[in-house]
Amino acid sequence: MKFTSRFLWACAFTGLVFATGNCSTLVQRLQTDLSPQLSQNNLISTTAPARWSDFDAPNPGVVVNVRTESDVVATVKFCTKQNIPFLAQNGGNGWATTFHLGKNGLLINLAALNQVTFNTNKTQVTIGGGSTVSNTINKAYAAGALVLTGNCNCVGALGATLGGGYGNLMGMYGFAVDNVLSLRVVTADGNIRTVTAQSDPDLFWALRGAGPNLGIVTSATLKSSPASTQDFQAWRGDLVFTEDKLEDVVQAIENLVLTPDTVIFLYLLADSTGTPSVVASPFQYKGNATTGRAAFASLYALGPVADTTEVVPYNEWNAGSDALCKRGDFKPGFAAGFQHMIPSTWRQIWDAYVAFQKLPGAASTGVLLEAYDLTKARSVPSSSSAFPNRNVRFNAFAIPWYTNSSLDAQAAEFGNNVRDLLRVTSGLPRNQTLQSIKKRYDPKDVFNQWFNIH
Ligand SMILES: Cc1cc2nc3c(=O)[nH]c(=O)nc-3n(C[C@H](O)[C@H](O)[C@H](O)COP(=O)(O)OP(=O)(O)OC[C@H]3O[C@@H](n4cnc5c(N)ncnc54)[C@H](O)[C@@H]3O)c2cc1C
Repeated sequence: MKFTSRFLWACAFTGLVFATGNCSTLVQRLQTDLSPQLSQNNLISTTAPARWSDFDAPNPGVVVNVRTESDVVATVKFCTKQNIPFLAQNGGNGWATTFHLGKNGLLINLAALNQVTFNTNKTQVTIGGGSTVSNTINKAYAAGALVLTGNCNCVGALGATLGGGYGNLMGMYGFAVDNVLSLRVVTADGNIRTVTAQSDPDLFWALRGAGPNLGIVTSATLKSSPASTQDFQAWRGDLVFTEDKLEDVVQAIENLVLTPDTVIFLYLLADSTGTPSVVASPFQYKGNATTGRAAFASLYALGPVADTTEVVPYNEWNAGSDALCKRGDFKPGFAAGFQHMIPSTWRQIWDAYVAFQKLPGAASTGVLLEAYDLTKARSVPSSSSAFPNRNVRFNAFAIPWYTNSSLDAQAAEFGNNVRDLLRVTSGLPRNQTLQSIKKRYDPKDVFNQWFNIH
């Protein structure tokens, strides 16, 4: 629930507390006790930054718009001392269903921690805990460097990194977690630490895969690469197929032998007229029409009805997914990792997708798939970080996207159906090492809003 400032001041003035949540003692406590400890006196608000999805959103009672690392420290200390549930927000794209802040909870908005800086020879980048993918790419592009980021501009750069970090460059550099050199982290005890493989090997291991469960990363230093204009080029775009080609497209993707410079995406999505369509999106780093067509010849052989592929610079690589970044509406996510693309399974997925997509307000629903060359990623031992999915060949996501929550139950049925169709194994084994590190660094589970790991 959002409060107007007039309501807030009336609240503060009268000291009234309404059970409806229209006024909040929490806000008053923060104004009195926390605000003086922050770097500015206007950082407490009741307006939460927009999230990618309104489904199971945290809906906090109060927001602290931190501007410095010390603001994060002061807020975490305040919350843990006062038993206030809290959550950090970066890009706002997390689709966990475990957020449960409510009006007594506090959101730490990291957006102002958006610095992106490079060392002199651009082999290292330090990314602020609130920097989005687009902000990171734009600053890297201006600096003449390539940085591993996710493929959607709205995602938090470190939000994605802390969960593993998939991106167009991972065929060459591995997962983002493999490129992390150090992290500045506020842990549950309210301390700020510089965590490296040498300083805190356990915590360094656990943060890379389960970061949101263990602290707030105010910044992280990763490997980067100096880049020339030529190094910034990629060939990418959409190949649109008629629906009867679905099985052939799926089989072609199963048979593709990706190289470190190539990535393939598959989308079941509505076109601009709302008609469901099959879209394969190839990507080739430093590619052009000739090399791209050769690398993805098996898809071209199926006769796409439209082809938007072109050579684009680094700061436009993600433009194709900007529509996916739209804020708001209801978008529960159903993800599955698997080893093989099976045409008959995708026909069943198509049928389920078309049936759900037809419902009122659900036209933007999609099923997305991505596959990367994993040679580099697999050269790093699975035991090197808490990230568990190093060997998964394909990742798919069913995203029921609808404007009215009355479709919640049908959306869950659709999403679970797609996930069940795709899953070759049911869930991952619990990670005991991660659980014991979690117990040591966060015994009271104050970082409790993300997928449960205990
Ligand atoms: C449209 C879309 C596109 C995506 N594309 C990609 C992609 O290309 N590659 C990829 O790897 N993943 C991708 N993802 C998955 C995405 O990385 C995760 O959902 C990630 O958790 C989102 O991070 P965020 O900062 O945007 O979200 P938030 O909701 O702000 O954060 C998600 C969780 O991470 C925590 N968190 C965020 N920043 C920090 C921090 N600095 N310190 C500690 N905890 C933090 C939050 O507290 C929260 O628990 C995508 C997701 C969506 C919805």
